[in-house]
Amino acid sequence: MKKVVLLGSTGSIGTSTCKVVEDLPDDLELVGLAAGRNVGLLREQIAQFKPQMVSVTDPTAAKELANEYNGTPVVECGDEGLLALATMPEADIVLIAIVGTAGLQPALAAIRAGKDIAVASKEILVMAGETVMTEARKHGVKVLAVDSEHSAIFQCLDGKPADSIRQIWLTASGGPFREKPADEFTGITVEEALKHPSWEMGRKITIDSSTLFNKGLEMIEARWLFDIEMPRVKVIVHPQSVIHSMVEFVDGSMLAQLSTPDMCLPIQYALTYPGRATSDRVQTSLAEIGRLDFEEPDTERFPALGLARRAGEVGETLPAVLNAANEVAVEAFCERQLSYLGITEMVATVMEIHELVTQPSLREILAADSWARKAAKNLVFDA
Ligand code: NDP
Repeated sequence: MKKVVLLGSTGSIGTSTCKVVEDLPDDLELVGLAAGRNVGLLREQIAQFKPQMVSVTDPTAAKELANEYNGTPVVECGDEGLLALATMPEADIVLIAIVGTAGLQPALAAIRAGKDIAVASKEILVMAGETVMTEARKHGVKVLAVDSEHSAIFQCLDGKPADSIRQIWLTASGGPFREKPADEFTGITVEEALKHPSWEMGRKITIDSSTLFNKGLEMIEARWLFDIEMPRVKVIVHPQSVIHSMVEFVDGSMLAQLSTPDMCLPIQYALTYPGRATSDRVQTSLAEIGRLDFEEPDTERFPALGLARRAGEVGETLPAVLNAANEVAVEAFCERQLSYLGITEMVATVMEIHELVTQPSLREILAADSWARKAAKNLVFDA
């Protein structure tokens, strides 16, 4: 029985993780849950999974819950609550599925407490990939990928060293605007950007998938997870989203991992690794799928890919700046304060004016993150 702490239990990845735990009652137990503001759903999860500790962001909601449950579960709150959950003595693995960068400190705390981590929140590795991976090596814990692309690469690599890889191929669905002509991008609305062709996901990642920033963040995530330089991390558009990613080895052989798109599969693999548990949830009929198509990504219509490649190649504080500026820009777009094209323009501008810090400490990375948020907000204000 693996004891799991789940940070972000009420989100898209969080609820899929709950389904996986429901499927495997003899293998997995949820001992801790962190939600943001959706206290109603958290109550249902407490009733179903009976965790020992929970946490919410709002102190008033935490107080109400604490009165209601009277110590079982223990109710924590805010950033401290996330840290308490991440370091729970009972936990074997901490799955981090909080949107944005709030998961970084809990991830490091879990590693330092000797827990394996399963990472859905790619922002953590984009911002501080080197620190996270160095700490994980130092403490002898695993960093397991939840993102379907990275899970696919991990499965294809199956322990082979970085020097056996010629290149990694991240597949991209291409998003809802794959076929949209460049001159129609100006008027793209929030509703249009939220319609993803293959995956049901949270709001931020769905917008990121439409701009291809999501793929850009994944390129940087792959660079750190698999210890491979950026020029060897490639992107190919594959509209069916059946091949989740591929590894091309030095002898020219390519391995791919396939299934119908369902996040329960990579989540289950991360939680049961190195084992594979029986589950009927994901069924793939290649005959029904019929064909698998591929095309080059269009970096002119989707400049986010180029920006992310540059951030990954330069490294230092630039990936944190790209990530933070993008978070602010997506929020502003969703609030209708910024145009769709404004998202990429704003990220490019903030990257341009950033004064790079070389060999940054964690504190300097966090400072660059705050600086970029402020710079991006000022640009929204001026827009
Ligand atoms: P959602 O927006 O659906 O869920 C986010 C979760 O985080 C919610 O449970 C939310 O709580 C919680 N949360 C937000 N802020 C805090 C906080 N400060 N403290 C505690 N909890 C918080 O996002 P997704 O599940 O889509 O994505 C989560 C992460 O996983 C992202 O980094 C994304 O890039 C990554 N990912 C997602 C995939 C997907 O298919 N959805 C695929 C691969 C990666 P509440 O709702 O209660 O406010």
